[in-house]
Amino acid sequence: MTPGEALARECGRYTEMGWMRGTSGNLSVVLGRDPLRLAVTVSGLDKGEMTPDDHVVIDASGAAVDSDKVPSAEAGLHARIAAVAGAGAVVHVHALAPVVAAEHWPDGVVLRDLEMLKGFGRQADDEVVIPVVPNSQDMAELGDAFEKGWSADVPALLVARHGVYVWGEDLYQARHRLECLEWLLRFKVETRRSRS
Ligand SMILES: [Zn+2]
Repeated sequence: MTPGEALARECGRYTEMGWMRGTSGNLSVVLGRDPLRLAVTVSGLDKGEMTPDDHVVIDASGAAVDSDKVPSAEAGLHARIAAVAGAGAVVHVHALAPVVAAEHWPDGVVLRDLEMLKGFGRQADDEVVIPVVPNSQDMAELGDAFEKGWSADVPALLVARHGVYVWGEDLYQARHRLECLEWLLRFKVETRRSRS
């Protein structure tokens, strides 16, 4: 499967889950590291109708390389996460539970004693804090905030009033982590009255 085929397939899956409404969200996969190159979904398309051609190659700054296609506005943060965290794929969706969780816990969302943490690459009895950063239209500012609060064993970032980023070795691992994290955050939000 080509990177374009994989990106289109994953967009279709996330759209069906209601996590890429309208044209929101974007996905990327690393093509090379020296220099850094990623294939990222193009801007402004319905994520349920993506074709394998609907991606563009970007550099470490998020700028398109040898293409007139317009990468997602958030491409710069994808590249930053790939560079800093060593991720092979980064997924960004506007699922609701992560945004609601960031609203309740703007200093970070604490997760513990949950079996589903295993699906996030941790142990069920680990205490995991998902970092939250304020939203911004400036990808350099968002990237700095990400890097400041980043931890190698927490492959996710919540952007307040916006969405969630999750990463992994490849799109497959990133997908599993995102699916499990969305469940964890939904649990956290829905049990908020009875648990701290
Ligand atoms: Zn977004």
